[in-house]
Amino acid sequence: MAQLRLNDVTREQIIVVENRSKRPKDYKSYEVVERVSYKESCPFCVGNEEMTPPEVLRIDDPWNVRVVENKFPILNNEGEVTGYHYVVIEGRDHSKNIHEMEVDDFEKVVKAFIEVSRILYQKEGVKYVQVFKNYKKEAGASLEHPHSQIIAINRMPDRIKGLIEMEKQFYEKHGECLTCSKIKDEIINKERIVYLDECFLIFCPYASIFPYEMAVVPIRHRSSLLSLNESDIKALSRVLHFAIKSLIENVGDVAYNMFFEFIKDEVEYHHYQIRICPRISIHAGFELATGFYTNVVSPETAARVLRGQD
Ligand SMILES: [Zn+2]
Ligand SMILES: [Zn+2]
Repeated sequence: MAQLRLNDVTREQIIVVENRSKRPKDYKSYEVVERVSYKESCPFCVGNEEMTPPEVLRIDDPWNVRVVENKFPILNNEGEVTGYHYVVIEGRDHSKNIHEMEVDDFEKVVKAFIEVSRILYQKEGVKYVQVFKNYKKEAGASLEHPHSQIIAINRMPDRIKGLIEMEKQFYEKHGECLTCSKIKDEIINKERIVYLDECFLIFCPYASIFPYEMAVVPIRHRSSLLSLNESDIKALSRVLHFAIKSLIENVGDVAYNMFFEFIKDEVEYHHYQIRICPRISIHAGFELATGFYTNVVSPETAARVLRGQD
């Protein structure tokens, strides 16, 4: 039986219709990747550093994480929309992905995300910084070597602007941050919780567009990643690593997008979050034409599976 759910912030309409014939482990990526720790032709591999554009940041020496300019940037300093486009090389090994890394190594990646975001927000004209990861081809990755991307842009994207506007309105009306209020509801409801501790909540949003979509939010109100200290970064890395591992271990080695929604300053109305969107189903003709999204795994089922209970 189909159910219609509305995202009260983005106004997206989602048709949840469970496809019970498919078990989680049936999901496989179509991409076949050769597992090697080094590839001669890979610009991100150790020893091939000369093949990348200039380095923006490196963590450790010899390096464990490098941030370099993107060879084919979406944005540069010319045109109506300008900005910066960087690539975060997440490790030395050609095939070791986040879920296979030690948490301490992943922490270096998160540190690089935050450090580079700080640098970018100090540059003239930068209005918004987007940190994101495309894992596997189906999610948009064009290179195998584990990497993420950071794009800084000279205008606030309309989607983010709209989101912040809704958050402001909610705050004015209720005297509370929208996400803080959602967190309380999710904790009471329990059904969509994947993980909860005193610092973080991982849950499957009520109006998820994607099967097994997850939101990672800090329990304590915070708008930006820029003000995180060492121990905050450690805690965030641990919970993100856990979220990604939960997906891969319980659903399969599937493609996903991960993106960070945070702003530059601390404000009462905006709460940072990280979204993980597995790319198991394809939004096709019906979705493009109508604006309805169909999700074949309800967020309640998704949370149960991601908790390892199904
Ligand atoms: Zn490589
Ligand atoms: Zn909040």
